[in-house]
Amino acid sequence: MTTTNLEFKTEVKQLLDLMIHSLYSHKEIFLRELISNASDAIDRARYESLTNNNIMEGDGDWKIKITPDKNAGTLSVSDNGLGMTKDEIIEALGTIARSGTKEFMEALQSKEVKDNPELIGQFGVGFYSSFMVADRVTVLSRKAGMKGQAGVKWESSADGFYTVEDVEKEKKGTDVILHLKKDEKKYLEEWEIRSVVKRYSDYIEHPVAMDVEREKDSKLQKGEKVKIREEEILNSQKAIWLKDKSGIKDEEYNEFYKHISHDFTDPAKVIHFRAEGTSEFTALLYIPSRMPVDIYYKDYKMGPTLYVKRVQIMDHCEQLIPRYLRFIKGVVDSSDLPLNVSREILQSNRQVEIINKNITKKVLDMLSDMKKNEFEKYLTFYKEFGRVLKEGVHFDFSRKEAIADLLLFQSTGKPEDSFTSLQEYVDAMKKDQEDIYYITGTSFEEVRKSPYIEAFKEKGYEVLIMLDEVDDFVVGGLEYRGKKFKSVIKGDISLDKEKDAEKKKAEKKYKALIEMIKDRLKNEVKDVRLSGRLKETACCLVGDEGDLDPQMEKLFKAMGQNIPETKRILEINPTHPIFTAMNRMFEKEQKSAVLDEYITLLYDQALLLEGSKPKDPAAFASAVTRLMVKDAEKSVS
Ligand code: ADP
Repeated sequence: MTTTNLEFKTEVKQLLDLMIHSLYSHKEIFLRELISNASDAIDRARYESLTNNNIMEGDGDWKIKITPDKNAGTLSVSDNGLGMTKDEIIEALGTIARSGTKEFMEALQSKEVKDNPELIGQFGVGFYSSFMVADRVTVLSRKAGMKGQAGVKWESSADGFYTVEDVEKEKKGTDVILHLKKDEKKYLEEWEIRSVVKRYSDYIEHPVAMDVEREKDSKLQKGEKVKIREEEILNSQKAIWLKDKSGIKDEEYNEFYKHISHDFTDPAKVIHFRAEGTSEFTALLYIPSRMPVDIYYKDYKMGPTLYVKRVQIMDHCEQLIPRYLRFIKGVVDSSDLPLNVSREILQSNRQVEIINKNITKKVLDMLSDMKKNEFEKYLTFYKEFGRVLKEGVHFDFSRKEAIADLLLFQSTGKPEDSFTSLQEYVDAMKKDQEDIYYITGTSFEEVRKSPYIEAFKEKGYEVLIMLDEVDDFVVGGLEYRGKKFKSVIKGDISLDKEKDAEKKKAEKKYKALIEMIKDRLKNEVKDVRLSGRLKETACCLVGDEGDLDPQMEKLFKAMGQNIPETKRILEINPTHPIFTAMNRMFEKEQKSAVLDEYITLLYDQALLLEGSKPKDPAAFASAVTRLMVKDAEKSVS
């Protein structure tokens, strides 16, 4: 039998190095990780055995066995699950099989992870935590259904290398044998193992067994005690979601959450319910306290784990929840689905649809309740997940209003840390205000000082501040309590009927000048017109109602999408003195270099105000300086 020497991938080396040298607290989690792997391997074997008779090998007595050996100084965790072939073991225990490894390594270097090694589980590298307590680890494995062949021994001392070798292994499944470090021998003690299993793995569905020594009355010699070894099951094995709610402690809920989510912080909310009637199922769902680190990765796997009558069918069943609730973690156990259900079947299954509808309603109701009764908590949730949740306004037509009711926005009428719901906004609308006004932008400060809201301020209208790139898209087609949403940076704004008449008069008066400006700027803007939104500022750039929002435009560009350039509209404030002055210059002399320069300067200012650069920054700067010099000379002469 030949032994092959192989080198770990760089990221594994780095991880092991960190694991061994930097992480000191909560080392006991290694046992949770090994038990969890063993339990997964059994779940997979059980699932495969539904369609492949060879898998069972006559041993369907699923079990995870822990064996401490004080003489050898080893602790073993064995399972009779699916096992691994040589190729599989090289892939599984020689690399870190996930995308975003770079981000992951960066995260591992952070102080947060060093202080909270539980975080490691989050990245799916549980097995390697063995090296926190062992200086050598041996893994013996044999794939289920391949009796008499394919046994493999994997071994490493975490020195950058590992070996694999073909071996005989009678029983299917995997043994992980830890050669414990000198000062980690406490994990050979019965009480220590018992307490760690109870704490972290009590709800594991399969028995976690250990041989323990017991004193019993001798059957041969009355009055005498004898020591016998017998197997004891250390965990209660109760699927937590099937237990009665009233009997479950918060810690139990939280521990289970950490197990399924690999998160290390307690969840923000637990939703546990049983549905009866058209569909019978139990759901135990969690809202995390913070965004899963990988939620924006392409391969983010969403959806609760699906069980059918306690048999785990698949991890991350995405058909069970809508995409806009993809932060939800948990378990759904159905009594109606067939055991051999596949992903394809799930896509068009009526039962699944009913479960999905049911869960969505429960979650939205719970959020609504939380918003009403625990606003602070809701706000924390919203700041974390609002951006994902609000996609539902666009994508879930039937629940548009319900989701809109969950939205929160900052507003120009309120301080930065205050958030308004649409209901509150509508309730506070002035009598003559017809629409819900909003402004998009990149920061609260920038938006609050924006010229676009001058007229609204004067009228005492609040303007909702929308800082997420997706906001314009979200509220675009929305009507809330019969009110339309109107972007203050798009379209013609007319807030006052009386002022409209004044504007009409001004339009007549300045017609020739406006035409001239339009002609000068014909390559830059699609129109020039008088503004209904400006009070102090001379001019600004706006879009047409149907135009893409500038934030959205940036988002699309960042995503590498080719979008046609949309020209903007230059709006001019007819009451601003600069405009009256320009008109007088224009009446005196229709073609003047100074007037041309003023037009360029006005346009450049409008660009600056919307957060863009003047077309020719050098020319802009020199023009401004020239005007400053002129003004300075005038003031001292
Ligand atoms: P994770 O379990 O999060 O994927 P691990 O590093 O703990 O990460 O394990 C890596 C892989 O090794 C697992 O995905 C699985 O394929 C395999 N593995 C680990 N332990 C076992 C086991 N007891 N039986 C079968 N496969 C296992």
